[in-house]
Amino acid sequence: MSDLTVEAIHTAYGLSQALFGVSIEVRQGECVALIGRNGVGKTTTMRSIMGLTPPRQGRVMWKGRDIAHLPPYKICQMGIGFVPEDRRIFPELSVWENLDIARRRGTGGKAVWSEPEVFALFPDLAEIRGRRGGVLSGGQQQMLTIARTLMGNPELLLLDEPAEGLAPLIVEHLRDTVAHLKATGLSIVLAEQNLEFVLSLADRVYILEKGEVRYTGTPSELRANQDIVKQHLTV
Ligand code: ATP
Repeated sequence: MSDLTVEAIHTAYGLSQALFGVSIEVRQGECVALIGRNGVGKTTTMRSIMGLTPPRQGRVMWKGRDIAHLPPYKICQMGIGFVPEDRRIFPELSVWENLDIARRRGTGGKAVWSEPEVFALFPDLAEIRGRRGGVLSGGQQQMLTIARTLMGNPELLLLDEPAEGLAPLIVEHLRDTVAHLKATGLSIVLAEQNLEFVLSLADRVYILEKGEVRYTGTPSELRANQDIVKQHLTV
């Protein structure tokens, strides 16, 4: 069964069209990756799913219902959580306060994630729970952004370029964290340019170019197809 089916969406910013008939599918518990160079439409696909930039054509089916024209807060309440690329930590609030304001029961009243679970997953955040968001390192901010989204108890997590700008050791730690989340049964859509990061986590990969899906395959199919990788991913 497919949890999320994006069906031929067209999305534009004003007169500038960014997506031209993008279709993707995410089954329950799957990690699906969107890859491609800057500006191909990865973020826009996530913003379309989240209702932040609603598609002008096409459907976004979530558990059998078209959510394409619902407001973002409704989509969030229905169990989809978005971790944006620019992180949007509240700089004046402490780590703990950043988490506390995001607290929400999940769909069906489930609250799998609250502070103890989140701090067990991110022990580094527990140690700095009183520190202001504005003074955290890039890695700490990325962990806090994911932790904050988990406090909303999503069933599907949209992760936009989580590894961007992080040191290799932190990326490794992040990889383990995302693998752990996947093992808990969370469905994940991951937009990322770090190919090794993607290939070690994803069940399936979509390569985007100029607002269209150009290739779909498993990580092993992609590893075996270096031409495709070179064509779409080397800058
Ligand atoms: P990046 O890694 O740079 O975020 P991306 O693959 O996520 O790349 P998008 O951000 O989805 O790509 O951008 C897709 C297209 O939409 C690009 O041509 C971009 O210039 C355009 N675009 C993105 N945001 C806006 C905006 N707010 N207004 C106008 N055009 C935009």
